[in-house]
Amino acid sequence: MSQEWLDALDPQSPFGLEALPFGVVLSEGRGPRLAVRLGEQALDLAAVSATTGSPHANLFDKGTLDPLLASGRAVWHEVREEIAEWLTSRRRAASTRPHLLPLAGRACAMPFSIADYVDFYSSEHHAANLGRLFRPGADPLPAAWKHLPIGYHGRAGTVVVSGTPVVRPSGVRLAGDPAEARVGPSEKLDFEAEVGFVVGVPSELGIPVPIDRFEEHVFGVLLVNDWSARDIQAFESVPLGPFLGKSFLTTISAWVLPLQALEAARLDQPPKEPAGSSHLAGHAGHAGHAGSGYAIELEVRLNGSVLSRPPFETMYWSAAEQLAHMTSNGASLRTGDLFASGTVSGPAHGQYGSLLELSWNGTQPVELEDGSTRRFLLDGDEVAMTATAPAPSGCRLGLGEVTGRVLPARPTRAAPA
Ligand code: MN
Repeated sequence: MSQEWLDALDPQSPFGLEALPFGVVLSEGRGPRLAVRLGEQALDLAAVSATTGSPHANLFDKGTLDPLLASGRAVWHEVREEIAEWLTSRRRAASTRPHLLPLAGRACAMPFSIADYVDFYSSEHHAANLGRLFRPGADPLPAAWKHLPIGYHGRAGTVVVSGTPVVRPSGVRLAGDPAEARVGPSEKLDFEAEVGFVVGVPSELGIPVPIDRFEEHVFGVLLVNDWSARDIQAFESVPLGPFLGKSFLTTISAWVLPLQALEAARLDQPPKEPAGSSHLAGHAGHAGHAGSGYAIELEVRLNGSVLSRPPFETMYWSAAEQLAHMTSNGASLRTGDLFASGTVSGPAHGQYGSLLELSWNGTQPVELEDGSTRRFLLDGDEVAMTATAPAPSGCRLGLGEVTGRVLPARPTRAAPA
Protein backbone atom coordinates (compact mmCIF):
# COMPACT_ATOMS: atom_id res chain seq x y z
CA MET A 1 0.00 0.00 0.00
CA SER A 2 1.33 3.40 -0.86
CA GLN A 3 -0.28 6.78 -0.90
CA GLU A 4 2.79 8.57 -2.23
CA TRP A 5 1.08 9.55 -5.44
CA LEU A 6 -1.64 11.14 -3.31
CA ASP A 7 0.88 13.46 -1.66
CA ALA A 8 -0.73 16.41 -3.40
CA LEU A 9 -3.73 15.87 -1.12
CA ASP A 10 -3.69 18.31 1.79
CA PRO A 11 -3.45 16.11 4.93
CA GLN A 12 -5.79 18.58 6.66
CA SER A 13 -8.43 18.24 3.94
CA PRO A 14 -11.79 17.16 5.33
CA PHE A 15 -12.20 15.19 2.10
CA GLY A 16 -9.43 12.65 2.57
CA LEU A 17 -9.65 8.87 2.36
CA GLU A 18 -11.84 8.62 5.46
CA ALA A 19 -14.65 10.69 3.91
CA LEU A 20 -15.04 9.74 0.22
CA PRO A 21 -18.50 11.25 -0.34
CA PHE A 22 -20.36 10.47 -3.59
CA GLY A 23 -21.57 13.06 -6.06
CA VAL A 24 -22.18 13.70 -9.74
CA VAL A 25 -19.85 16.05 -11.59
CA LEU A 26 -20.37 17.48 -15.05
CA SER A 27 -17.71 16.64 -17.57
CA GLU A 28 -17.40 18.41 -20.92
CA GLY A 29 -18.64 16.21 -23.69
CA ARG A 30 -19.32 13.23 -21.43
CA GLY A 31 -22.28 14.49 -19.40
CA PRO A 32 -22.83 13.69 -15.72
CA ARG A 33 -20.27 11.38 -14.09
CA LEU A 34 -20.67 9.56 -10.77
CA ALA A 35 -17.65 10.42 -8.64
CA VAL A 36 -16.16 10.39 -5.17
CA ARG A 37 -14.57 13.53 -3.84
CA LEU A 38 -10.93 13.51 -2.79
CA GLY A 39 -9.72 16.91 -1.61
CA GLU A 40 -10.46 19.35 -4.43
CA GLN A 41 -10.66 16.60 -7.02
CA ALA A 42 -13.31 14.09 -8.08
CA LEU A 43 -12.58 10.52 -9.14
CA ASP A 44 -14.67 9.50 -12.16
CA LEU A 45 -15.87 6.03 -11.09
CA ALA A 46 -17.20 4.91 -14.47
CA ALA A 47 -13.94 5.86 -16.15
CA VAL A 48 -11.84 3.88 -13.65
CA SER A 49 -14.08 0.83 -13.83
CA ALA A 50 -14.06 0.95 -17.64
CA THR A 51 -10.25 0.82 -17.55
CA THR A 52 -9.67 -1.71 -14.82
CA GLY A 53 -12.92 -3.64 -14.67
CA SER A 54 -15.15 -3.76 -11.62
CA PRO A 55 -17.92 -6.05 -10.39
CA HIS A 56 -19.86 -2.84 -9.71
CA ALA A 57 -19.40 -1.19 -13.12
CA ASN A 58 -23.18 -1.21 -13.71
CA LEU A 59 -23.63 0.93 -10.57
CA PHE A 60 -21.12 3.53 -11.74
CA ASP A 61 -22.01 4.26 -15.35
CA LYS A 62 -25.48 5.87 -15.08
CA GLY A 63 -24.35 9.38 -14.09
CA THR A 64 -26.37 9.22 -10.87
CA LEU A 65 -26.10 7.63 -7.45
CA ASP A 66 -29.55 5.98 -7.85
CA PRO A 67 -28.47 2.38 -8.67
CA LEU A 68 -25.89 2.35 -5.87
CA LEU A 69 -28.49 3.68 -3.40
CA ALA A 70 -30.81 0.79 -4.26
CA SER A 71 -28.08 -1.87 -4.06
CA GLY A 72 -28.11 -2.26 -0.26
CA ARG A 73 -25.73 -2.13 2.66
CA ALA A 74 -23.44 -5.04 1.75
CA VAL A 75 -22.74 -3.53 -1.68
CA TRP A 76 -22.34 -0.01 -0.22
CA HIS A 77 -19.52 -1.39 1.94
CA GLU A 78 -17.91 -3.38 -0.90
CA VAL A 79 -17.94 -0.35 -3.19
CA ARG A 80 -16.32 1.85 -0.57
CA GLU A 81 -13.57 -0.73 -0.07
CA GLU A 82 -13.05 -1.07 -3.80
CA ILE A 83 -12.68 2.70 -4.29
CA ALA A 84 -10.28 2.95 -1.35
CA GLU A 85 -8.19 0.23 -2.98
CA TRP A 86 -8.14 2.13 -6.29
CA LEU A 87 -6.88 5.17 -4.44
CA THR A 88 -4.26 3.55 -2.21
CA SER A 89 -2.80 0.60 -4.09
CA ARG A 90 0.43 1.26 -5.96
CA ARG A 91 -0.48 -1.14 -8.76
CA ARG A 92 -3.76 0.76 -9.29
CA ALA A 93 -2.17 4.21 -9.41
CA ALA A 94 -1.58 4.32 -13.17
CA SER A 95 -5.18 3.39 -13.98
CA THR A 96 -6.75 5.64 -11.32
CA ARG A 97 -4.73 8.82 -11.55
CA PRO A 98 -5.86 9.95 -15.04
CA HIS A 99 -9.47 9.92 -13.87
CA LEU A 100 -9.09 12.46 -11.06
CA LEU A 101 -10.85 15.60 -12.29
CA PRO A 102 -10.20 19.01 -10.72
CA LEU A 103 -13.30 20.38 -8.97
CA ALA A 104 -12.35 24.04 -9.38
CA GLY A 105 -14.75 25.67 -11.81
CA ARG A 106 -16.65 22.42 -12.37
CA ALA A 107 -20.41 22.24 -11.82
CA CYS A 108 -22.04 19.41 -9.93
CA ALA A 109 -25.42 17.91 -10.78
CA MET A 110 -28.06 16.51 -8.41
CA PRO A 111 -26.36 13.45 -6.88
CA PHE A 112 -29.54 11.33 -6.93
CA SER A 113 -33.22 11.53 -7.88
CA ILE A 114 -35.26 12.84 -4.96
CA ALA A 115 -38.26 10.59 -4.33
CA ASP A 116 -40.20 12.01 -1.36
CA TYR A 117 -38.99 14.84 0.82
CA VAL A 118 -39.86 15.17 4.51
CA ASP A 119 -38.64 17.88 6.87
CA PHE A 120 -38.66 17.36 10.63
CA TYR A 121 -38.55 19.84 13.53
CA SER A 122 -36.35 17.92 15.94
CA SER A 123 -34.16 20.51 17.69
CA GLU A 124 -35.63 21.31 21.09
CA HIS A 125 -33.77 24.64 21.17
CA HIS A 126 -35.12 25.66 17.75
CA ALA A 127 -38.68 24.59 18.54
CA ALA A 128 -38.61 26.34 21.92
CA ASN A 129 -37.20 29.55 20.38
CA LEU A 130 -40.03 29.59 17.84
CA GLY A 131 -42.56 28.98 20.60
CA ARG A 132 -41.19 31.93 22.60
CA LEU A 133 -41.29 34.15 19.51
CA PHE A 134 -44.77 33.25 18.25
CA ARG A 135 -46.68 32.01 21.30
CA PRO A 136 -45.31 34.17 24.14
CA GLY A 137 -46.67 33.19 27.54
CA ALA A 138 -47.65 29.68 26.38
CA ASP A 139 -45.65 26.46 26.73
CA PRO A 140 -42.84 26.98 24.14
CA LEU A 141 -43.16 23.41 22.81
CA PRO A 142 -46.31 22.19 21.00
CA ALA A 143 -48.27 19.49 22.88
CA ALA A 144 -47.07 16.58 20.70
CA TRP A 145 -43.45 17.69 20.51
CA LYS A 146 -41.92 15.37 23.14
CA HIS A 147 -44.11 12.41 22.15
CA LEU A 148 -43.03 12.14 18.51
CA PRO A 149 -40.76 13.83 15.96
CA ILE A 150 -43.02 16.46 14.33
CA GLY A 151 -42.54 16.89 10.57
CA TYR A 152 -44.24 17.77 7.29
CA HIS A 153 -44.06 16.54 3.71
CA GLY A 154 -42.14 19.00 1.55
CA ARG A 155 -41.86 19.43 -2.20
CA ALA A 156 -39.42 16.92 -3.72
CA GLY A 157 -39.45 18.61 -7.14
CA THR A 158 -37.92 21.86 -5.86
CA VAL A 159 -34.98 20.26 -4.06
CA VAL A 160 -31.91 21.56 -5.92
CA VAL A 161 -28.15 21.12 -5.79
CA SER A 162 -25.76 23.50 -4.04
CA GLY A 163 -25.02 26.66 -6.01
CA THR A 164 -28.49 27.00 -7.55
CA PRO A 165 -29.61 30.66 -7.31
CA VAL A 166 -32.42 31.46 -4.86
CA VAL A 167 -35.04 33.71 -6.42
CA ARG A 168 -36.81 35.64 -3.69
CA PRO A 169 -40.32 34.19 -3.51
CA SER A 170 -43.49 36.26 -3.58
CA GLY A 171 -46.64 35.36 -1.72
CA VAL A 172 -49.44 36.45 0.57
CA ARG A 173 -48.23 37.93 3.83
CA LEU A 174 -49.45 40.10 6.64
CA ALA A 175 -48.28 43.70 6.40
CA GLY A 176 -49.06 47.02 8.05
CA ASP A 177 -50.97 47.82 11.20
CA PRO A 178 -53.81 46.99 11.36
CA ALA A 179 -52.71 43.77 9.74
CA GLU A 180 -53.64 43.49 6.09
CA ALA A 181 -52.97 40.63 3.66
CA ARG A 182 -50.80 41.76 0.75
CA VAL A 183 -49.21 39.98 -2.18
CA GLY A 184 -45.56 40.73 -2.82
CA PRO A 185 -41.96 39.64 -2.47
CA SER A 186 -41.09 38.11 0.90
CA GLU A 187 -39.46 40.59 3.26
CA LYS A 188 -38.40 37.86 5.68
CA LEU A 189 -36.36 35.44 3.55
CA ASP A 190 -34.35 33.12 5.78
CA PHE A 191 -32.19 29.99 5.78
CA GLU A 192 -32.39 26.86 7.92
CA ALA A 193 -29.23 24.83 8.57
CA GLU A 194 -30.15 21.14 8.56
CA VAL A 195 -28.69 17.66 8.13
CA GLY A 196 -30.46 15.43 5.59
CA PHE A 197 -30.59 11.62 5.39
CA VAL A 198 -30.85 9.73 2.09
CA VAL A 199 -32.81 6.48 1.85
CA GLY A 200 -31.27 3.76 -0.29
CA VAL A 201 -33.26 0.58 0.29
CA PRO A 202 -37.05 0.83 -0.03
CA SER A 203 -39.52 -0.69 2.44
CA GLU A 204 -42.76 -2.55 1.94
CA LEU A 205 -46.10 -0.72 2.10
CA GLY A 206 -47.84 -1.45 5.38
CA ILE A 207 -44.70 -2.59 7.22
CA PRO A 208 -43.12 -0.08 9.64
CA VAL A 209 -39.31 0.19 9.73
CA PRO A 210 -38.21 -0.28 13.35
CA ILE A 211 -35.57 1.96 14.83
CA ASP A 212 -32.85 -0.70 14.71
CA ARG A 213 -33.24 -1.24 10.93
CA PHE A 214 -32.15 2.34 10.22
CA GLU A 215 -28.73 1.43 8.81
CA GLU A 216 -30.20 -1.15 6.43
CA HIS A 217 -32.26 1.54 4.70
CA VAL A 218 -30.31 4.78 5.00
CA PHE A 219 -27.31 5.26 2.73
CA GLY A 220 -25.85 8.53 3.93
CA VAL A 221 -26.05 12.15 4.98
CA LEU A 222 -25.77 15.56 3.36
CA LEU A 223 -26.34 19.19 4.29
CA VAL A 224 -29.65 20.90 3.62
CA ASN A 225 -30.61 24.57 3.49
CA ASP A 226 -34.39 24.73 3.93
CA TRP A 227 -34.95 28.27 2.58
CA SER A 228 -37.95 29.81 4.33
CA ALA A 229 -40.07 32.93 3.71
CA ARG A 230 -41.07 33.67 7.30
CA ASP A 231 -43.79 36.22 6.46
CA ILE A 232 -45.50 33.91 3.95
CA GLN A 233 -45.06 30.94 6.31
CA ALA A 234 -46.48 32.76 9.35
CA PHE A 235 -49.75 33.68 7.60
CA GLU A 236 -50.45 30.46 5.69
CA SER A 237 -49.32 27.75 8.10
CA VAL A 238 -52.14 27.76 10.67
CA PRO A 239 -53.42 25.04 11.04
CA LEU A 240 -51.91 22.77 8.36
CA GLY A 241 -48.22 23.72 8.54
CA PRO A 242 -45.64 24.95 6.02
CA PHE A 243 -46.68 25.26 2.38
CA LEU A 244 -45.56 27.97 -0.08
CA GLY A 245 -43.31 29.64 2.50
CA LYS A 246 -40.99 26.62 2.16
CA SER A 247 -41.73 24.87 -1.13
CA PHE A 248 -40.11 27.43 -3.47
CA LEU A 249 -36.63 25.93 -2.95
CA THR A 250 -34.60 23.55 -0.78
CA THR A 251 -30.87 23.21 -1.44
CA ILE A 252 -28.78 20.09 -0.76
CA SER A 253 -25.02 19.65 -0.85
CA ALA A 254 -23.60 18.05 -3.99
CA TRP A 255 -21.85 15.31 -1.98
CA VAL A 256 -23.49 12.47 -0.03
CA LEU A 257 -21.37 11.08 2.79
CA PRO A 258 -22.00 7.35 3.44
CA LEU A 259 -23.14 6.54 6.99
CA GLN A 260 -20.17 4.19 7.17
CA ALA A 261 -17.83 7.21 7.21
CA LEU A 262 -19.55 8.52 10.34
CA GLU A 263 -18.98 5.53 12.65
CA ALA A 264 -16.52 7.52 14.82
CA ALA A 265 -19.01 10.40 15.05
CA ARG A 266 -21.77 8.38 16.69
CA LEU A 267 -22.84 9.27 20.21
CA ASP A 268 -25.82 9.00 22.51
CA GLN A 269 -28.53 11.60 22.14
CA PRO A 270 -29.54 13.94 24.94
CA PRO A 271 -31.75 12.11 27.48
CA LYS A 272 -35.50 12.11 26.86
CA GLU A 273 -37.90 13.37 29.49
CA PRO A 274 -40.54 11.99 29.28
CA ALA A 275 -39.57 8.91 27.23
CA GLY A 276 -40.84 9.08 23.63
CA SER A 277 -43.87 7.08 22.55
CA SER A 278 -43.57 3.28 22.47
CA HIS A 279 -43.95 3.15 18.65
CA LEU A 280 -40.34 4.40 18.48
CA ALA A 281 -38.96 1.68 20.75
CA GLY A 282 -36.21 -0.54 19.38
CA HIS A 283 -35.46 -4.08 20.41
CA ALA A 284 -33.66 -2.62 23.41
CA GLY A 285 -37.15 -1.64 24.52
CA HIS A 286 -36.79 2.10 24.79
CA ALA A 287 -36.85 5.11 22.56
CA GLY A 288 -33.56 6.97 22.33
CA HIS A 289 -31.44 4.25 20.80
CA ALA A 290 -27.85 4.31 22.15
CA GLY A 291 -25.36 5.77 19.69
CA SER A 292 -27.98 7.12 17.29
CA GLY A 293 -26.81 10.73 17.52
CA TYR A 294 -23.98 12.12 15.38
CA ALA A 295 -21.32 14.63 16.46
CA ILE A 296 -21.63 16.78 13.34
CA GLU A 297 -20.58 20.42 13.73
CA LEU A 298 -22.21 22.80 11.26
CA GLU A 299 -21.05 26.27 10.28
CA VAL A 300 -23.21 28.94 8.62
CA ARG A 301 -21.62 31.87 6.79
CA LEU A 302 -23.38 34.87 5.27
CA ASN A 303 -21.25 36.69 2.67
CA GLY A 304 -18.21 35.11 4.32
CA SER A 305 -19.04 36.14 7.91
CA VAL A 306 -19.56 33.22 10.29
CA LEU A 307 -23.06 33.60 11.75
CA SER A 308 -23.33 30.41 13.76
CA ARG A 309 -22.00 26.94 14.53
CA PRO A 310 -25.00 24.67 15.16
CA PRO A 311 -24.14 21.39 16.97
CA PHE A 312 -26.08 18.42 15.53
CA GLU A 313 -25.40 16.35 18.66
CA THR A 314 -27.93 18.48 20.56
CA MET A 315 -30.86 17.19 18.45
CA TYR A 316 -33.61 15.70 20.60
CA TRP A 317 -34.94 13.20 18.01
CA SER A 318 -32.47 11.08 16.05
CA ALA A 319 -32.65 10.21 12.36
CA ALA A 320 -33.40 6.59 13.35
CA GLU A 321 -36.40 7.76 15.40
CA GLN A 322 -37.51 10.00 12.54
CA LEU A 323 -37.38 7.07 10.10
CA ALA A 324 -39.27 4.81 12.52
CA HIS A 325 -41.92 7.47 13.08
CA MET A 326 -42.25 8.28 9.36
CA THR A 327 -43.06 4.62 8.59
CA SER A 328 -44.94 3.76 11.82
CA ASN A 329 -48.31 4.12 10.04
CA GLY A 330 -47.24 1.73 7.27
CA ALA A 331 -46.05 4.43 4.83
CA SER A 332 -43.31 2.90 2.70
CA LEU A 333 -39.86 4.18 1.76
CA ARG A 334 -38.55 4.62 -1.76
CA THR A 335 -34.98 4.81 -3.02
CA GLY A 336 -34.07 8.51 -3.03
CA ASP A 337 -36.34 9.57 -0.16
CA LEU A 338 -34.79 12.52 1.63
CA PHE A 339 -35.64 13.43 5.19
CA ALA A 340 -34.10 16.42 6.91
CA SER A 341 -33.54 16.99 10.61
CA GLY A 342 -35.22 20.34 10.99
CA THR A 343 -33.25 23.46 11.82
CA VAL A 344 -30.26 22.58 13.97
CA SER A 345 -29.99 25.04 16.87
CA GLY A 346 -27.91 24.65 20.00
CA PRO A 347 -28.64 26.34 23.33
CA ALA A 348 -26.39 29.40 22.75
CA HIS A 349 -27.05 32.36 20.42
CA GLY A 350 -23.98 31.56 18.29
CA GLN A 351 -25.44 28.08 17.69
CA TYR A 352 -28.81 29.11 16.19
CA GLY A 353 -29.47 27.68 12.72
CA SER A 354 -31.77 30.40 11.32
CA LEU A 355 -31.81 34.20 11.03
CA LEU A 356 -35.28 34.12 12.57
CA GLU A 357 -33.62 33.06 15.82
CA LEU A 358 -30.30 34.93 15.37
CA SER A 359 -32.11 38.29 14.82
CA TRP A 360 -35.01 37.28 17.11
CA ASN A 361 -37.57 37.79 14.35
CA GLY A 362 -35.81 40.93 13.13
CA THR A 363 -35.74 42.76 16.45
CA GLN A 364 -32.00 42.25 17.08
CA PRO A 365 -30.11 42.69 13.78
CA VAL A 366 -27.00 40.58 13.26
CA GLU A 367 -23.76 42.38 12.33
CA LEU A 368 -21.56 41.07 9.51
CA GLU A 369 -17.78 41.53 9.18
CA ASP A 370 -18.26 44.39 6.69
CA GLY A 371 -20.21 46.35 9.33
CA SER A 372 -23.59 45.86 7.64
CA THR A 373 -26.47 44.31 9.56
CA ARG A 374 -29.16 41.80 8.69
CA ARG A 375 -32.63 41.08 10.05
CA PHE A 376 -33.36 38.72 7.13
CA LEU A 377 -31.64 38.01 3.80
CA LEU A 378 -31.12 40.78 1.23
CA ASP A 379 -30.86 40.35 -2.54
CA GLY A 380 -27.28 39.42 -3.42
CA ASP A 381 -26.59 37.71 -0.10
CA GLU A 382 -24.80 34.37 -0.28
CA VAL A 383 -25.39 31.74 2.42
CA ALA A 384 -22.83 28.93 2.73
CA MET A 385 -23.06 25.99 5.11
CA THR A 386 -20.33 23.45 5.84
CA ALA A 387 -19.95 20.71 8.43
CA THR A 388 -17.33 18.37 9.85
CA ALA A 389 -17.40 15.31 12.07
CA PRO A 390 -14.77 13.18 13.81
CA ALA A 391 -13.06 10.55 11.65
CA PRO A 392 -11.69 7.24 12.98
CA SER A 393 -8.11 8.61 12.79
CA GLY A 394 -8.98 11.54 15.06
CA CYS A 395 -8.95 13.98 12.12
CA ARG A 396 -12.10 15.74 10.92
CA LEU A 397 -14.01 14.68 7.85
CA GLY A 398 -16.33 16.93 5.87
CA LEU A 399 -19.82 17.02 4.50
CA GLY A 400 -19.98 18.90 1.19
CA GLU A 401 -20.90 22.57 1.38
CA VAL A 402 -24.34 23.88 0.51
CA THR A 403 -24.44 27.39 -0.95
CA GLY A 404 -26.98 29.69 -2.54
CA ARG A 405 -27.15 33.37 -3.56
CA VAL A 406 -30.37 35.36 -3.28
CA LEU A 407 -31.66 36.92 -6.52
CA PRO A 408 -34.36 39.64 -6.65
CA ALA A 409 -38.01 38.62 -6.83
CA ARG A 410 -39.57 38.19 -10.25
CA PRO A 411 -42.66 40.26 -11.12
CA THR A 412 -45.70 38.68 -9.44
CA ARG A 413 -47.82 38.92 -12.62
CA ALA A 414 -46.69 37.82 -16.05
CA ALA A 415 -46.06 40.70 -18.42
CA PRO A 416 -48.79 41.16 -21.06
CA ALA A 417 -47.90 39.39 -24.29
MN1 MN B 1 -36.81 23.16 8.01
